[in-house]
Amino acid sequence: MTTHVPGDALVSLNAVNKHYGQLHVLKDINLQVRKGEVVVVIGPSGSGKSTLCRAINRLETIDDGSITIDGKELPAEGKALAKLRADVGMVFQSFNLFAHKTILENVTLGPIKVKGASKAEAEKDAMALLERVGVGQQAPKLPAQLSGGQQQRVAIARALAMKPKVMLFDEPTSALDPEMINEVLDVMVQLAKEGMTMIVVTHEMGFARKAADRVVFMADGQIVEDETPEEFFTNPKSSRAKDFLSKLL
Ligand code: ADP
Ligand code: MG
Repeated sequence: MTTHVPGDALVSLNAVNKHYGQLHVLKDINLQVRKGEVVVVIGPSGSGKSTLCRAINRLETIDDGSITIDGKELPAEGKALAKLRADVGMVFQSFNLFAHKTILENVTLGPIKVKGASKAEAEKDAMALLERVGVGQQAPKLPAQLSGGQQQRVAIARALAMKPKVMLFDEPTSALDPEMINEVLDVMVQLAKEGMTMIVVTHEMGFARKAADRVVFMADGQIVEDETPEEFFTNPKSSRAKDFLSKLL
């Protein structure tokens, strides 16, 4: 699903460090994600995966190092940040839909407010996206009327409506009932096949095997392994990765 073009990093983290007080949560992180690449990030709870995602679209500051999206460093604040942040779509564990807005409004809000799209244009795009993730019929409803799996697919459509260059997913299926996990993963696999650049934090090893170009294993704020899924799952190098994988079985 990827054409690897060396040096063509769409997302680039260089010697990134972050502390929360005394806690060193990101330790000298170097990570390059090329256009069209799907990188799955796994690791024990507390290893810094969410902080990494949040740092990439500046929901968190970093202490030193640099993060660039398509060659541009994220500005600290203001309009420039909103614009560049639109390049980075984010889907969280909790769907975070606006509870008092319809599904359609949830998807059109960003394009209208941030991108200056007309209502008609935004609605046309939104309907196409909602159809694509299989919830077109839910457009006039409120989020609470949808199942968790449907809401998460709306959250994906909402992020896609901004036409991001990269999509970040932070445990997008962890809050879902088991029977709804696959309908969300299927949408993600489809996106990967269509060439979307993706960074996905997940415990769904089936997704990693099926869709990942690379598996990044984090522990204690460090990237411990960065391998193809085949290599990582059959031949983990570090004792921490071996230990982590053995606990999944
Ligand atoms: P993961 O997503 O891998 O479970 P996180 O990035 O959420 O890990 O957290 C990494 C570490 O940073 C954990 O020890 C967590 O308790 C701590 N942490 C996360 N957010 C904050 C915060 N806002 N303030 C202080 N500590 C935090
Ligand atoms: Mg997390």
